[in-house]
Amino acid sequence: MNGRSQLGHVTADDLAGLQDGQKPFAVIVGCADSRTPPTILFNQGLGRLFIVRVAGNTVDRRGLASIVYAVRNLGCPLVVVMGHTGCGAVAAAEAVVDGKTELDPSLEEMIVPIIPAVLTARRTRRNDIAVAAVEENARRVAAKLHTSDTSLQQAVDEGRLMIVACVKELHSGRVRFLD
Ligand SMILES: [Zn+2]
Repeated sequence: MNGRSQLGHVTADDLAGLQDGQKPFAVIVGCADSRTPPTILFNQGLGRLFIVRVAGNTVDRRGLASIVYAVRNLGCPLVVVMGHTGCGAVAAAEAVVDGKTELDPSLEEMIVPIIPAVLTARRTRRNDIAVAAVEENARRVAAKLHTSDTSLQQAVDEGRLMIVACVKELHSGRVRFLD
């Protein structure tokens, strides 16, 4: 946000020890959007973040398995589901809900999981409806992770894991964590 990246070039020092294993401190479930690379946004270099990215920051079965692996096998204590303002995938789901476009079969796997969040956001009657949909989508994905796999649920119950949702604001650079 102050315009100064702490990430420099990758040096030999950075590479030392990587071969022996990884101990990332967070899983980021992010959007494939080119404007939201988590390593740059959070100033984190190699070995720090375990990232699952798909347009609309939803989680399918393979994504879930990746998250479970990071938590169970790598001992990762934090999962952050990060939506962002101006998300094209959420906008595509809104267009379908509003009847502006037909559901494109090629985009179905991206759009359909987001539709419940759009419908919930509509019920809030907020003025910033697009942001509300992005927030609701991140919240829903985070909430679903709590119940999608018993090992994640167990890790949360035992205090070894925290799953949170946030929204990256493209205009300000701020990352706003949600309740
Ligand atoms: Zn997006």
